[in-house]
Amino acid sequence: MDEASYWDIPGMTMGVSGVGWVGQSLMLFGSEEQKKKYIPLIASGEPDGVWCTAYSEPNAGSDFANIQTRAVRTDSEYILNGQKIWTSCAHRARWCWLAARTDTNVAKKQHGISLLILDMKSPGITIKPIENFAGVHIFNELFFDNVKVPVANLVGIENRGWYHLMQSLAFERHSMAPQFYGGARRIHEYLVKYVRDNRYKGKPMSEDSIIRHKLAERALELETLKMFAYEITWKISKGIIPVYEAARNKAYCDLVMERLAITGTEILGIYSQVDALSKWARLMGIITRMYMMFPGNSIAAGTDEIQKNIVGQFKLGLPRPY
Ligand SMILES: Cc1cc2nc3c(=O)[nH]c(=O)nc-3n(C[C@H](O)[C@H](O)[C@H](O)COP(=O)(O)OP(=O)(O)OC[C@H]3O[C@@H](n4cnc5c(N)ncnc54)[C@H](O)[C@@H]3O)c2cc1C
Repeated sequence: MDEASYWDIPGMTMGVSGVGWVGQSLMLFGSEEQKKKYIPLIASGEPDGVWCTAYSEPNAGSDFANIQTRAVRTDSEYILNGQKIWTSCAHRARWCWLAARTDTNVAKKQHGISLLILDMKSPGITIKPIENFAGVHIFNELFFDNVKVPVANLVGIENRGWYHLMQSLAFERHSMAPQFYGGARRIHEYLVKYVRDNRYKGKPMSEDSIIRHKLAERALELETLKMFAYEITWKISKGIIPVYEAARNKAYCDLVMERLAITGTEILGIYSQVDALSKWARLMGIITRMYMMFPGNSIAAGTDEIQKNIVGQFKLGLPRPY
């Protein structure tokens, strides 16, 4: 992900779910058949290995356990009805990693949720695009009308999906730093070159101490983010399951991206406000794009407030906030 992001290989719009968290989750709690079928597809990078993730609903975002999409079990299949929203890449995905309610008669809303693999070619699925405010089509609404999901597509234990989902979410949050770090490193390199090549008030920008210090601060943050990302990767390789670390990385990644986008706009000045296609665009419009995308990225995979709640609870031992 680090390399793909550095070289600007399409990520979010092409689907990062498979490599980012579905593969790792299947390795942990998928059936042998599921591992055999889906992991090689994910690793292939082919269109048949592209996944989307459908958790959020109009009344269930941070309050994930409030999901209402129903999967009612018959002998050999679940019948799926309901709605999802903000489903990134659903319009390109071959498979969907989906959370649905399989039991409504439960003491706690975290119970009665199951994790299902949905074939996006199944009849009864409607995909409606949502364009974000940068004009990019990443996410969608999904509607399910009596969609049939084979029981073999249940991942892990029925009605215990919440526990699998928390693990999968940790993988997802962990994947954010490597996903953004490489691209941010490249943008930082562009900015360093830009201040070397351009002048302000008759002097090279690279001689301005404020500009130099800001670029140095961003470089330190990017190095720290890389260390955070590689620390988790190393822990996973040793069989250690990260808990609060993924939330830490996600919250820190959001901060680093925000600061880099702001430093970029400060260096480019008014040029940072023009579209990539404008003759006035600088650095191919990437700063404009980054500035418009960072707020959304800080919401994806759970907002900063949710990440900080997790760090407070699992790293600092503070009581649950709700
Ligand atoms: C770019 C992008 C991609 C996304 N892709 C996907 C996807 O592929 N699949 C998917 O299922 N979803 C996706 N989402 C949805 C995302 O997971 C939700 O938007 C997110 O979880 C927040 O939920 P919400 O929008 O309902 O906001 P809300 O949960 O309503 O939150 C509103 C505000 O209240 C704050 N808040 C809520 N609860 C608490 C609390 N307990 N403590 C402190 N503050 C709180 C939040 O931090 C936020 O500031 C995506 C979102 C974005 C922006």
